[in-house]
Formats: sequence, C-alpha cells, structure tokens
Amino acid sequence: MSDKTIPLAVPSLGEKERSFVQECLDTNWVSSVGPFVSKFEEAFSDYLKVSHSVATVNGTAALHTALIVAGVEPDDEVLVSDLTFVAPANAVAYVQAHPVFMDADPKYWQMDVDKVHDFLVKECRRTPEGTFNRQTGRRIKAVIPVHILGHPVDLDPLLSLTQKYDLTVIEDASESLGARYENHLVGTVGDIGTFSFNGNKIITTGGGGMVVSNRQKLAAKAKYLTTQAKDDPVEYRHDAVGYNYRMPNILAALGLAQLESLEDFIAKKRAIARHYAEAFQGIPGITLPSEASWAFSIYWLFTILVDEEQTGISSRELMHALEEKSVASRPLWMPLHMLKPYANSQAYRVEHAERIWRQALSLPCSVSLSQEDQEQVITAVKEIVRHG
Ligand SMILES: *Cc1c(COP(=O)(O)O)cnc(C)c1O
Repeated sequence: MSDKTIPLAVPSLGEKERSFVQECLDTNWVSSVGPFVSKFEEAFSDYLKVSHSVATVNGTAALHTALIVAGVEPDDEVLVSDLTFVAPANAVAYVQAHPVFMDADPKYWQMDVDKVHDFLVKECRRTPEGTFNRQTGRRIKAVIPVHILGHPVDLDPLLSLTQKYDLTVIEDASESLGARYENHLVGTVGDIGTFSFNGNKIITTGGGGMVVSNRQKLAAKAKYLTTQAKDDPVEYRHDAVGYNYRMPNILAALGLAQLESLEDFIAKKRAIARHYAEAFQGIPGITLPSEASWAFSIYWLFTILVDEEQTGISSRELMHALEEKSVASRPLWMPLHMLKPYANSQAYRVEHAERIWRQALSLPCSVSLSQEDQEQVITAVKEIVRHG
C-alpha cells in the first residue's frame, strides 16, 4: 500500500494549459479584458451548439446572473432541487426570493419531476398574472433543475409543466457539462443554463462559470450585468446596478485549453464508472448509480449508496475505514431544507433526499486515476464491506 492518499477528484492540466497561460503572462493580458475570454465563450457555444455564452467568475455568480435576467424579483419563489450543492439556493436568496425545495427521485437521485407536477397541480393557482403558491400567496417565477453528479433531470415532462405554468427554466448544469438529455446537451434545453469550472468540476479554470442561452435578449442582459452595466464605457455611465462578475483572461485561457480535453475526460469518467459498476455489482446493500434510458451521464462523481442494514457498515464508517486505507471519499451535500438558512423554507413532500444523502458516498474518480489506484479503491471497499 502506498502512503499517498488517492484523491477524490483532481484536475488534469497539460501542455496546452501551460502555453495558453504563458501567452497571457507574455502579453500582459491577465485581467478582465483579453482575447481568451471571447475565444472561450465562442468555443463553449460551439461545443454546446448554443447561440450565446457569457463567462463569469464562478458558477454561483452565473446562477445569480441567470436569476436576475430571468426576471426573478424579491418575494418571488423558485423551485429548486433539495439534494444538491447549496449554490442554487443561495443565488435565490441573493435576489431576495424564496426557494421551494423539490425531492430527489429514488432511482436517479435528480429533481423528482412527478412531484413538481403534483406541487403545481395541487398546491398552486395558475392566473393570467402568473402561478401562485396557495400556501404562501407568492408568485412562482422559475425552476432550477440541478443536473447532479453528471446525470440529467428528466427535462421533457418538466418543460411541458413549465410551459403550462409559465415558469422560466434555469438549468444548473455545473456538474454535468457534456451530459445529454435525449440528443440535447444539458444546459441548452431550458431558457438559461449555468456551468461551473471550479477545481473539482469536469473541466476547470481554477474558479469560473458560464451563463448560456439561445435567447439573445437574456444573454445580452447577462453580459451587461456581469460587466458592471456599462452604458457609456468612456464616461462611466451606468444605468443599472451591475456586477463585477466577468471572468479574467488568464482563467479563460485555462478554460479554452481544458475544453479541448473535455471529450477525453468524459470518456475517462465513463470508463471509471463502468469499471466500478462491474466490480461492485451484486454486493448486497451497495446501490450503484443508474443511467436513465433518455440520459447520457458524464459520471462526474462516482457515487454509491450504502445500506447499513445489509452491509453492516454506514456510509460514514466506510468513509473513515477507506481513509485508513489511503483512499479519499466524500458524502453528498446535506439536503438544503435541513440547512440553517433554509430551515423555514417550504420543502414539498421531501421523502427520499435525506436517505440518499445518509447512504451516499463518492469514490475517487479523477480523470487521471490509474488502473492500479482504481483496483486499490475497489479492493479496499470490498474488504471493508465484507468485514463490516
Ligand atoms: C459547483 C456547483 C456550483 C457552482 O459553484 P462555484 O464554486 O461557484 O463555481 C453550482 N451548482 C452546483 C450544483 C455545483 O455543483
């Protein structure tokens, strides 16, 4: 056994990244203007086959921007996945709106669209002025389906609901760049999509994000707001409160280089997932991630569920035992309705998110993970579970 811990997910940076960043240093274009920003935006649009991309400082800023351009106003409500990283709920709070949390479906662990349906039909009122939550009297303006762990939310039925109830769809595709719903890349199906290039995501810029849309007006407004809302850049006239959310050139240089490796990274993630699935299938009490018939998952984080009754060990005990064997692993995010800032938010019939969270554990899946290291993880998990 090596004394080096196998990490959960680390970036993979190469010669291209080095040479693009060097170009920034050599030309002094390191900051908020420079050619790499628009090059990265264009390459991103080409990859996604979307008409507009706006690069931002991080994925949370992208979500904040998306909510403003979607027209979400103070006291509105936004339906958000309950089982996700906290960023989308925080972005809702930034615009002084209120999240309403939607359960995770037990099969794919994504926003449960059947429950979104029930919530809208049973708990809401559709009027010419919009859709209103009967319980709170507030207007529901938007939905943020979060495609977690590399797998898409079931978008078709969700979109027929959002059309019927006149809700704007902001896809948080931070964890799922390159994933597909049927033939569509996620992030491009709703009104607006957002991405993150944080260090643990499938491609990284150190920290960064993107807002994408096929709707020209929304994209133009996103560009305007993320660049300090300049109406006369020479005289410094600003007709709105803007944000300094633009991505610096040096980060965009990294992003452009990383994008060239994205298809390889996805292939590697899928190969890692396939190998884990083969190794763990048939172990009682271990649930593997499933890919829906309409989905192409990028398996961003390979996550299993551990049933303590069947394995004799909890997911957290497994995490600590793996640590002893120099293998890093990590739980998923505490369901958002359980977090202090959202303790008073409405959570509609949340029945599965908490169990999934308690049982879930993500295993090492860097795109640079070697076969020997993956074998070490597999052997460690099997030994611990057998003696659990
Ligand atoms: C990573 C992530 C974000 C954005 O995170 P940043 O660190 O701000 O780039 C947003 N939503 C989800 C679901 C994420 O996983």
